[in-house]
Amino acid sequence: MLFSEIIGHNALKNKLIETVSSGRISHTLLFYGQEGGESLSLAIAYAQYIACTDKQVFFDDELIGDSCGLCPSCKKFQNLAHPDLHFIFPVANTKEVSSKPMSADFINPWRQIVIDKKGYLTENEWYSHIGIENKQGRISVDDANEINQIASTTPYESTQKVVIIWLAEKLYHAAAPKLLKTLEEPPQNTLFFLISYNPDQLLKTILSRTQMIKVGRHPEHKLKAYLTNYFNLEGDRLEYILKLSDGNFNQVFSLLENNQTDTELLTDFRELMLLCFGFQIVKIKDKCNNLSGFGREKLKQFLSYGLRIIRLCVMYETGKPELIRATKLEESFISKFSSFVNQKNAIEFTEIIELAIKHIERNGNSKIILMDMSLQIATIFARDKNKKGN
Ligand SMILES: [Zn+2]
Repeated sequence: MLFSEIIGHNALKNKLIETVSSGRISHTLLFYGQEGGESLSLAIAYAQYIACTDKQVFFDDELIGDSCGLCPSCKKFQNLAHPDLHFIFPVANTKEVSSKPMSADFINPWRQIVIDKKGYLTENEWYSHIGIENKQGRISVDDANEINQIASTTPYESTQKVVIIWLAEKLYHAAAPKLLKTLEEPPQNTLFFLISYNPDQLLKTILSRTQMIKVGRHPEHKLKAYLTNYFNLEGDRLEYILKLSDGNFNQVFSLLENNQTDTELLTDFRELMLLCFGFQIVKIKDKCNNLSGFGREKLKQFLSYGLRIIRLCVMYETGKPELIRATKLEESFISKFSSFVNQKNAIEFTEIIELAIKHIERNGNSKIILMDMSLQIATIFARDKNKKGN
């Protein structure tokens, strides 16, 4: 992965490049940021740059340098198959790997999805890629031993070995202590790049041994420029993706892939809410059957969209309509729907929908999950209507 292939973060890339030219490479780094953002790809690009034997220097660009992409080392990095590049990530038992699962058992699917998604990978996408979506992945004691083993050997081809630990917060509690000494005093030729989407869940003893690198979200004006220039988006579609992606390209890709428009999502959500409000059980059931045909990812997006609309309703109701980042169609719906949403029921709706998302992620029956969710929402609407009536 070249730095130039990763969207944005030029200041950070340049800082990383400078550490190489000045010989101040930190041995244990923690790249942290939004789930599915650029943390993983930046760590890989940095490792590739360190190993590249023909480093490029740019004089008049925003980026001051990059890997060549052509030397034997870069060629191996391209397939994530360099012998001095090691990956550790959370896994769990599968049909094929039924006991003591380790990262090495899943290295081929790992390389494939990281290359396919250019590093924009979420925890759930990884689990569903290897068929463990109903389980909790973790980095085991065996993998911690493996890391120590890698650290104790000499590099094969480069001057440095790089161990990338993706989702370091998934280090099993018994595994983490085994790494403390290695992380604190890594052998001269070993670099550890930890990636975390939830650094607050990392053990403090691990955290204190890393130098933290924040991979921030893309500012809206830059995101807009990327979406316009790289994805040829314009008009309402541009506005919609800009608002829903929250500065995160994993979201952008997912939105583009599922090809939903704000109009479609809004139409479905509005229809479902009106049916819930009217307590029209038979029609709710039909609607849920219909929505369950979306498939898991699209359904999650639909529900996340619903959460966003509810959040915007609360903002609208609390007299801050200027805070609303919505399209015109959404604004029109929110201006009416917000009279039925208040601080209290918004919290309830949010919890109900979040739970539905969680169940869908765990591969539950989407018809049942949607129906259950809708009935709970309908019951709350009915309760609140009664209160108003009294
Ligand atoms: Zn190279």
